[in-house]
Amino acid sequence: MPELRLLALYPEQMNIYADRGNVIFLRERCRWRGIGFSYAAAGPGEGFDPEAHDLIYIGGGQDRDQLMVAEDMRRTKRDAIAAALADGASLLAVCGGYQLLGSRYQLGERRIEGLGLANLETVREEGERLIGNVSIEVDLGSGPRVLAGFENHGGRTYLGSGAEPLGRVLHGFGNNGKDGYEGILRGNLIGTYLHGPLLPKNAWLADELIARGVEHSSGTRPDLEPLDDALEEAAHAGAEDAARRG
Ligand code: GLN
Repeated sequence: MPELRLLALYPEQMNIYADRGNVIFLRERCRWRGIGFSYAAAGPGEGFDPEAHDLIYIGGGQDRDQLMVAEDMRRTKRDAIAAALADGASLLAVCGGYQLLGSRYQLGERRIEGLGLANLETVREEGERLIGNVSIEVDLGSGPRVLAGFENHGGRTYLGSGAEPLGRVLHGFGNNGKDGYEGILRGNLIGTYLHGPLLPKNAWLADELIARGVEHSSGTRPDLEPLDDALEEAAHAGAEDAARRG
């Protein structure tokens, strides 16, 4: 039976804005299609087997949550995440989790060392938090699509030279409110500021992650059975519309 083996990192610590709902959405879309789904979590102090998971997920967190997990994550999980990515597993990192993939998150004098797995850095600068509805144009290999959601971050993220953004901002702030980019995309590594119900509002991204995950576990990319997505499409249209209206 095809399956998706999901690993959530720090689900207790990095879960603001109901990021956990993304996990439930993946589980249900697998179940509706008869695809096996397994869930594992790695919290503080815990390592994991990099070959045992197809999709690694980390959600958002407050600055203090990030401060709490960053050192532990470097020590107990960094190498396994790098090995899993090299083995073809996917990583979806949202907001605070996304920031931690970079080299540092600088908050005035205080510096949170990141994992150094993605070529980016984040700086808390003067000015308002970047909050609001956001939509971006993304191409994960099958043509341009829209991701719509919500962002709320004080940190401004800057990609290093040669790093590819996940998408181009259509409406909203994105990485830093200046360069028109949002997130990072490097092969199966996806980082984004779009949090909360990212996947329920963008079912196409959930399905892309399921397809990549099943391909990783079975060796064959599946043709996913279409589902009745009337509610998901309405949620997507509503989010896109909210972003357009600002
Ligand atoms: N604490 C980070 C910031 O404010 C990330 C916030 C989040 O995960 N929503 O920039």
